[in-house]
Amino acid sequence: MVLDIARFIAVDNHAHSLLRGHLEMDEIGFRRCFTESRSLAMIEEHVRHSTHYMDLLDHLERIFNTRTEQDFLTFRSKQNSTAFIRMLFDDVSIGAIIVDDGFRAADSFSLKEFAEVSGRPVFECRRIETVLEECLKRELSFDQLCQEFETQLTKPGQTQLVSLKTICGYRGGLDLTVPSREEAAQDYERHRKEWGVGTCRVERSPLYHYLLLQAFELAGRAGLPVQIHTGIGDDDADLLQCNPALMQRIFRSRTFAKTNFVLLHCFPYVREAAFMCALYPNVFMDLSLSVSLASSSSAAMISEALAGAPATKLLAGSDGHSCAEAHWYGMLCWKRGLTRSLFDMINNASVTHREAEQIAAFILHDNAIKLYKLEGLA
Ligand SMILES: [Zn+2]
Repeated sequence: MVLDIARFIAVDNHAHSLLRGHLEMDEIGFRRCFTESRSLAMIEEHVRHSTHYMDLLDHLERIFNTRTEQDFLTFRSKQNSTAFIRMLFDDVSIGAIIVDDGFRAADSFSLKEFAEVSGRPVFECRRIETVLEECLKRELSFDQLCQEFETQLTKPGQTQLVSLKTICGYRGGLDLTVPSREEAAQDYERHRKEWGVGTCRVERSPLYHYLLLQAFELAGRAGLPVQIHTGIGDDDADLLQCNPALMQRIFRSRTFAKTNFVLLHCFPYVREAAFMCALYPNVFMDLSLSVSLASSSSAAMISEALAGAPATKLLAGSDGHSCAEAHWYGMLCWKRGLTRSLFDMINNASVTHREAEQIAAFILHDNAIKLYKLEGLA
């Protein structure tokens, strides 16, 4: 019997918004959406020879009947923005999107605009570091800072806030310290003057880790899951410091027992992430970015995740950003990878056809709806 999940509605649990000028991309701009490298030499010479990029173009050229990368870029530049986005999202049945708007926010559609152009519910995932950096620019005492940080983390946004996110992997790694309030206050006084002037970037420090852990606790009280960047990312993140097992102490701690964590991306630490999910009730994982940037391994990655983690712990996400093809390709890779992985399990008699369909439904929508309490979706 064929396992057909193509029309299963997918909740994209981790993505970003689209550039306002998403149709006006040259080849460098378009390739940038499908690599984590910032090196122009990589983008000019190597990205188009990556198997995922060849696979992406091959699919797009078949759908749109174009023949080359340039041909496709010319074709897309003449499309109607709204119709093009909706057609791609319809093609892979994206039903709702949770958006982290901390990436290229100034040039991108706001969450409200993204909901309008995509014709989908768009929910907000708020970056803890962005909130903290905004608070640090203001003239506040330490107590006021703590209070203001909490207020800003949970205040209502343009669309429903359903999650927080940390990029601590980019800011010194996942091996978090546990500073006291006094240590954090002293650190604040030390750095206050430099943070008060214009640009501010938090890095591994007692103040940052103290407030990050405060945010984790607050998230537990507010019922907001915390997404954590783990595994692959751009050159800013030290890959060795992005192993989710480095956070085991946090996951095991009773202080954060009420906080749900979602490990994003995970590759190459898919096994470590799956084992965290198998051990702790409050740990979940997705494979966004990994299933598209390492698309030839997507089925293997999903099998590896499901070998460790219960099916109720895995969520689908595209990590799409800037152009709609990125969200589309991410979800295409999920559905294709899931189909292959589950088909193998059916053939090995590990699961029945019915169980395989249930697993796909869990991963593509049920888990996200339950975890993020997405209103209006069932
Ligand atoms: Zn992302």
